[in-house]
Amino acid sequence: CGIVGYIGTESVKDILLKGLEKLEYRGYDSAGLAIVDEKREDLQLVKEKGRIASLRDEVEKTKPEGTCGIGHTRWATHGAPSARNAHPHQSETKRFTLVHNGVIENYESLIEAYLSDVDLRSETDTEVIIQIMERFVSEGLAVNEAFRKTLSLLKGSYAIALLDGESDDRIYVGKNKSPLLVGMGEDANVVASDSMAMLHITKTFVELMDEEVVTVTRDGIWIQDLDGNEVQREPFTAELDE
Ligand code: GLU
Repeated sequence: CGIVGYIGTESVKDILLKGLEKLEYRGYDSAGLAIVDEKREDLQLVKEKGRIASLRDEVEKTKPEGTCGIGHTRWATHGAPSARNAHPHQSETKRFTLVHNGVIENYESLIEAYLSDVDLRSETDTEVIIQIMERFVSEGLAVNEAFRKTLSLLKGSYAIALLDGESDDRIYVGKNKSPLLVGMGEDANVVASDSMAMLHITKTFVELMDEEVVTVTRDGIWIQDLDGNEVQREPFTAELDE
């Protein structure tokens, strides 16, 4: 239902929680966040059924640290509202972690075609995206290429933000028929399904078009279409107050 992401120089957990709270008005049944920090062995993942206040309590207990992360509020379409079905979802080896808004209409045929030997951890349509992505990387594709190839298989709507546990210097995003913006701040860049969620960081955003992916780093953003061709787009200023 809502997506936020931040990559910069500040501790990301409060930035993400604040962003998720700004999206609360849209309605949701569960919420979660993931933070990657190369100094830590494992990617840090916290997700809870229910209020963002419960997610905040859990984050305060586990204290995930880092300056690169993604967050999500879920409105369940496939799979009951539960901690297990809450986003972020992880690939089998836990290398890749993603959040998704929307509905993947062909997820059952994708499971048949690519994932018949994978033990899926959730009942969502979302998890197939991350499992197929890992499959393509294990077959030798570069991460960016695997991401574009995976998205080209999806039918339906998606706004996606994805982390690679092996690098804390980028967030991969992509969209089709669900809104997604990339925002440019000072020493930081952000991702949001609604600019409102990230006005505390920046008012400068770039709108994504359907079937585009963006690699978001601390210093810049790099937009491509699903074939890998580079796309240029001018940013706009959000005329909204925080
Ligand atoms: N279809 C996904 C799910 O049920 C995403 C729902 C959403 O947009 O929040 O988990």
